[in-house]
Amino acid sequence: MSKRNLDAGPNTEPKSKQVKHWSLGLLESMKDPKSIVKETKSVVVIRDKFPKAKIHYLMLPTENINSIYKMNLEHVKLLEEFNRLFEEIKSELSDIELKAGFHAVPSMQRLHMHVISIDMISPCLKTKIHWNSFTTNFFIPFEDILNELKETGSIKKMSPELHKNLMATPLQCNQCSFNPKNMPQLKEHLLTHNKS
Ligand code: AMP
Ligand code: ZN
Repeated sequence: MSKRNLDAGPNTEPKSKQVKHWSLGLLESMKDPKSIVKETKSVVVIRDKFPKAKIHYLMLPTENINSIYKMNLEHVKLLEEFNRLFEEIKSELSDIELKAGFHAVPSMQRLHMHVISIDMISPCLKTKIHWNSFTTNFFIPFEDILNELKETGSIKKMSPELHKNLMATPLQCNQCSFNPKNMPQLKEHLLTHNKS
């Protein structure tokens, strides 16, 4: 599957202001005080620029690690720091259900963990690919990545075939058994789970 940015529209910024390549955008956001939610010596938490739910953060290492596939046993400590910060965020947002995990095939550079609320209510959530990337096994829970790293010392890549099949999964609500016909119906349905 070829890579492209499914979130941003055409780049209309003047050439002088454009970042080198869209896939490097997280590195820019990591330096932008307006994007930063919290930071420690080894980790930065930023707001996702195109949030797919009411709360959507990205957790990144300050160390230059490109993706989960570049991790080894030395990075278990880093993931434990990710977990500590995730627990901190959960206690700060105790009335919101949050989950943490990684996309099996990330589009952006620099290892990043998604911290996202399960409501999935956001104008940026537009496509079936957006939906399936957070609600199928394409979204690998944090605990699974930590366990695999501890047990095998690395993270195994997903096959292109499984990737393709997961993206083609029929729409299914993440909070009940409803099968919406299309994205507008799904988005309308999601509101019924979130009346506040
Ligand atoms: P992934 O598919 O795991 O690589 O997800 C990348 C995430 O980065 C998506 O949720 C995008 O909405 C988000 N994103 C894209 N560009 C930026 C940016 N410049 N700053 C912050 N988040 C971004
Ligand atoms: Zn539902």
